[in-house]
Amino acid sequence: MIPQDFEYAAAITLDDAVQQVAAGAKPLAGGMSLIPMMKLRLASPERVVDIGRLKELNYIREDGGAIHIGAAATHHEVESSNVIRGKCPLLAETASHIGDVQVRNMGTIGGSVAHADPSADYPAALQALEAKFVLKSTTSERTVAAADFFIDTFATALEPEEIIREVIAPVEAQGAGVSYQKMYQPASGFAIVGIAVRIARSGGKISFARIGVTGLSGHSYRAADAENALMGKAGSATEIQHAAALVAQNVDANSDLHASADYRRHLAVVYAARAIAAALARTA
Ligand SMILES: Cc1cc2nc3c(=O)[nH]c(=O)nc-3n(C[C@H](O)[C@H](O)[C@H](O)COP(=O)(O)OP(=O)(O)OC[C@H]3O[C@@H](n4cnc5c(N)ncnc54)[C@H](O)[C@@H]3O)c2cc1C
Repeated sequence: MIPQDFEYAAAITLDDAVQQVAAGAKPLAGGMSLIPMMKLRLASPERVVDIGRLKELNYIREDGGAIHIGAAATHHEVESSNVIRGKCPLLAETASHIGDVQVRNMGTIGGSVAHADPSADYPAALQALEAKFVLKSTTSERTVAAADFFIDTFATALEPEEIIREVIAPVEAQGAGVSYQKMYQPASGFAIVGIAVRIARSGGKISFARIGVTGLSGHSYRAADAENALMGKAGSATEIQHAAALVAQNVDANSDLHASADYRRHLAVVYAARAIAAALARTA
């Protein structure tokens, strides 16, 4: 349980951080995933650069109709931010479900997104929010949508010389209802499945629906068929059940010691129905 020897350097500025990453250093943010992986020798970087204390990466603000979250904002900061609670409540609710108090005090949104654990909570919400990630290198900056970012288990669109600088999420529409529902893995708190829903009604009919799924397969995704099935419906129990069933359809489900593929699919349908019903109950 002792990592291989490595060099540690704390980045002084964001530019310093990207230069060190370009030179081969591995970013260290909250250390909640990287340090355990190093101790288990699943990762053995020769150099790490600590970006967790960079003020340039630690902010939460509303600007231009969107919420901008620096990559080093901790889960606790996201959970407790008045801006996020008021303007993007799905993200605050999701952050509150991550791990325990210690993990939420140390772990960062950028670290969670970059790590891309298939059972991580944020990706469900970030898919439902159609969030964007700003990726920075020494030479360029680009913006990637969540739908294009999460590629597979621990695999993302992030290039080795890039760091995540910022997460951008929309300001939630007035009157919309949101909910994140998850089946906890009892020891760690990770999501065996987790479903994030945003929904709105107009004239008594569902006029907007976004559903993000985590835990079920190798990477998070948006359940577009389920979203479409809800459009124009009043939101009866039968309609919710029908849409929820589509969340797990044609999905190559994960199977591990915590849950078989069939059980995960079953859980996804159950939790999708709960999340849709809870979000609908919160619509104005
Ligand atoms: C006991 C325990 C319980 C947990 N329970 C949950 C849970 O219930 N739900 C959940 O979602 N997560 C859970 N986690 C994981 C936790 O949320 C981590 O905080 C998160 O996965 C990684 O964030 P971090 O800031 O600690 O990143 P680190 O561990 O520092 O880094 C993780 C990876 O991301 C890279 N990285 C970090 N920041 C950046 C960046 N800005 N740009 C590019 N690459 C970057 C690192 O190089 C590394 O590869 C748990 C962790 C523990 C230890």
